[in-house]
Amino acid sequence: MTHAAPSAADAVLAGLPGLDWLESTYTDLHAHPELSHREHRSAAICAARLRELGFEVTEGIGGTGVVGVLRNDRDGETGPVVVFRADMDGLPVAEATGLPYASTDVGLDRHGVEWPTMHACGHDFHMTWLLGAAALLAGARDAWSGTFVALFQPAEETGDGAVAMVEDGLVDRLPRPDVVIGQHVGAERAGSVHLRPGPAMSRSENLKIVVHGKGGHGSMPHYTIDPVVVAAAIVTRLQTVVARELSPFEFGVVTVGMLQAGTKANIIPATAELHVNIRSYDDGVHDRLVEAITRICRGEAAAAGCPAEPEISSYDRVPLTDNDPDVVATVRAALLDAGLEVVHGEQITGSEDFSWLPRAWGVPYAYWFIGGWDPAAYDQAVATGTERDIPSNHSPYFAPVIHPTLETGVRSAVASSLAFLGR
Ligand code: ZN
Ligand code: ZN
Repeated sequence: MTHAAPSAADAVLAGLPGLDWLESTYTDLHAHPELSHREHRSAAICAARLRELGFEVTEGIGGTGVVGVLRNDRDGETGPVVVFRADMDGLPVAEATGLPYASTDVGLDRHGVEWPTMHACGHDFHMTWLLGAAALLAGARDAWSGTFVALFQPAEETGDGAVAMVEDGLVDRLPRPDVVIGQHVGAERAGSVHLRPGPAMSRSENLKIVVHGKGGHGSMPHYTIDPVVVAAAIVTRLQTVVARELSPFEFGVVTVGMLQAGTKANIIPATAELHVNIRSYDDGVHDRLVEAITRICRGEAAAAGCPAEPEISSYDRVPLTDNDPDVVATVRAALLDAGLEVVHGEQITGSEDFSWLPRAWGVPYAYWFIGGWDPAAYDQAVATGTERDIPSNHSPYFAPVIHPTLETGVRSAVASSLAFLGR
């Protein structure tokens, strides 16, 4: 990996004021969000722009995924390869921002159910930033060499878009990257970039637990084994996993988000179902959480005399985002050279499927956040201690400001990519 001189970024970024389509592309994408796996319009917009810029474009990877490759070899030598990832999907949220470009669209989810749609996670910024960076890099090829890959991923919100691209042969369809990088907009102060080495976002997995009891009449509990009582005991006992089994210095979350059983007050059902979300910053902690949950479920079922062990299965597995320290150091230096305000990012308990992509090649990666909240409003919130009231990602009121958020994200995408591309 080479660290390009700051003047390379300066030369490329000189074209930024000339991108007169950037803001209208953003407001258009914002006004027309599409749900996970249904990003057809967004993907077409990204693909068309990349083609216009001279990228080799492949569409339909993993459903609606788009990949654009810009080869800029020098003297017949294939230089470094950078993959920059942006996700494309919106959320089933009714937008309440009141912005002039707010979404009033409805869209179908993958099951064909209609919802109001909103770019409540800011993936519209991610697409626009990457298109802006792609345009600037395509327009200043003398300033760098190597291969720049713009990757537009579907279905981050359902946690299965990156995997879908990998399963569709992504690794064999692209040159092997030296690094995979990406960035997310958040409710931090606009203009700031939040970057940290090591675990940055949690590993997440859901467990479905079916408790098998013995159903019967509500008036005759002595002829039954009540799975509702077993499920209730499991929920209570699960609260001890993080509190009593993890070290106070280890991070873990165990949330029972769903508990379902029964149809009527005077019927004892035969089964009860729990859905548990677990989070960690460490694969060893993750394994211990799963082990403890399994042990507790089996133990409570045995204590009640259940006729069968609980069935436990997992779904919606999202990997740990564990930023490579060397990549982070290189990116940080490049962003500072480009005049950006870089802040040591906080660990985020949320999760991202981004790292399935670098994991598929076995290459290092980094993922960071760009503040999008109006600086004056942000400072006011800090002054009055009301930062927690700033609407976060996924809120119907999530409303990052266009400026300087657009410019910051394009500048950081360009500067970070050039840190790995050659001259
Ligand atoms: Zn999200
Ligand atoms: Zn997101």
